[in-house]
Amino acid sequence: MNRDDLIKLLSLTDENQIEELFKKAYQIKQEFVGTKVYYRGIIEFSNYCVKDCYYCGIRKSNSSVDRFMMTKEEILEAAKWAYDEKFGSLVLQSGERIDREYIDFVTDIIKEIKKIGDGSLGITLSLGEQTEESYKKWFEAGAHRYLLRIETSNRELYQKLHPESHLFDERLNCLKTLKKLGFQTGTGVMIGLPEQTIEDLANDLIFFKEMDIDMIGMGPYVLHQETPLAKKVNRFDSRKQLLMGLKMIAVARVFLKDVNVASTTALQALDPLGREKGLQAGANIIMPNIGAVTYRKAYQLYDNKPCLDESAGICKTCFEGRVEVIGESVGYGEWGDSPHFKNRDKTKN
Ligand code: SAM
Ligand code: SF4
Repeated sequence: MNRDDLIKLLSLTDENQIEELFKKAYQIKQEFVGTKVYYRGIIEFSNYCVKDCYYCGIRKSNSSVDRFMMTKEEILEAAKWAYDEKFGSLVLQSGERIDREYIDFVTDIIKEIKKIGDGSLGITLSLGEQTEESYKKWFEAGAHRYLLRIETSNRELYQKLHPESHLFDERLNCLKTLKKLGFQTGTGVMIGLPEQTIEDLANDLIFFKEMDIDMIGMGPYVLHQETPLAKKVNRFDSRKQLLMGLKMIAVARVFLKDVNVASTTALQALDPLGREKGLQAGANIIMPNIGAVTYRKAYQLYDNKPCLDESAGICKTCFEGRVEVIGESVGYGEWGDSPHFKNRDKTKN
């Protein structure tokens, strides 16, 4: 498939043709990664952030956010719960901090989580741009996957979405470093950003391929009223955002085949059945929120974040039902690593 093919698929408007695309993507998913859905219980443990991305609700300059940091005990309690419930893996996510206290805190948490069940929980980190030294520390402590979205592969657009000090090349270098260190590396973009074109999205998919990425965590851009980017949006069309999000998942599956693709929360923010639709369009990973309900409201990247009041237990049962309804099963107790990572030549970074 070349750029034109990707553009053609992403531009489909005919309902039957879109349905055909989703079916094709589902077949490829069955063939290359199977129909087991893997859970990554996500713990959004802090919303302190030194960055000021124009789209994000917890950006540094949003003074109406109540800032929080979960304690070590609270994080470990959530991790223990994930283990007891046979979640194979979890994700630690937070706003970005690069200070020594934070780096050491995370290192300690990773080591403690690895002690639960004798290292049986896989750990994915989503903690933004860090130095090679910090990434290495966390890898050696036991984290083995890292998710860092490039947000958009279009440099000019990237700069419009961020203050001048946030550099595209720095983010790109971080991705390269993560791969070099041996992390299963995930990236992704926001879909349906102001000024983003279909060509940009096709280029994003080519970027994933050229970077030999193992996991994709991408989702529709969703408005947050208290952000600078919201002012650039005249009319936010949830249906359009959802459809483009699903088409990107499907085309990514058709194009990249053996990578893990997440059906992200943003899909559900736009449609109550958004995440099931993501699975049916080719995704194979779901990230149920397992952090304490108390903190959810303070971790709103965008408006209408779903499951704000559901405890981890309710989330798990709810997801299980959702997965079964579409005829799939949950890979309990398994890491569900990206087949692409296993297949890729580790000597070539
Ligand atoms: N701070 C880390 C980072 O930026 O990589 C990790 C946490 S950050 C909240 C995770 C992701 O949230 C970002 O990569 C971004 O794509 C996504 N995000 C932020 N604001 C969003 C919005 N308004 N709509 C959709 N996704 C958003
Ligand atoms: Fe901070 Fe990440 Fe939000 Fe940017 S996207 S403001 S780095 S939490």
